Amino acid sequence: MGPPASGKGTQAEMISTRFDLEAVSTGAMLRREQEAGTEIGQAASELTRKGELVPDAMITELVKIWLAEKEGGFVLDGYPRTVPQAEALEALLAENGTPLDTVIFFDVPFEVISDRILNRVGCTACGRIFKIGLQVQSEEAVCPACGGELIRRADDTVEALKRRMEEYQAKTAPLIAFYEQRGLLQRIAAGGQPEEVFGKVADHLER
Ligand code: ADP
Repeated sequence: MGPPASGKGTQAEMISTRFDLEAVSTGAMLRREQEAGTEIGQAASELTRKGELVPDAMITELVKIWLAEKEGGFVLDGYPRTVPQAEALEALLAENGTPLDTVIFFDVPFEVISDRILNRVGCTACGRIFKIGLQVQSEEAVCPACGGELIRRADDTVEALKRRMEEYQAKTAPLIAFYEQRGLLQRIAAGGQPEEVFGKVADHLER
């Protein structure tokens, strides 16, 4: 867990590769539903564009379907994001007999978040994320990895970021205490480069 653009998706991918665990991002799940034009996708699209969370029941249903097919371990990225979601997940995992091992909280200062969000573009073909001014010079550039088209996410705007931070403070931040009480929370300073952050994540997971 962590604020928007705290690096959850990047770290989830790195954990998935190193520890051979399947990772799921509820944000990516919703974007796929939107692209496919499903009922859920249509309902979510307006909310995510504005930076608001989608209803708990909707997202929990998607996660439940995903978990039902899982045999081994997994990494959840972007779920739970509210206390009711955390309670629903606890109940689901208790049913499956697979309780959470750990919850990582990616701690990133707001200035870093805002710089990352307002200057990032993603490739429509390979999904990689790049920073404008660093790996690419403008959002009109092509993907340095595969030549694909780069786009900005619909919710990576100043207005949506403001709303996403408000939603985060009001609904997600209370999860820090929720998981602290359960002895599951590991706080990791995540303002640095992905490899540096992953070093700390891997140390924690290997312990
Ligand atoms: P980020 O963490 O960078 O804000 P995500 O890709 O994780 O972005 O999520 C994008 C959007 O999808 C969120 O702003 C929210 O609208 C929606 N979303 C993702 N996961 C959840 C969730 N667990 N509960 C409610 N809404 C969610």
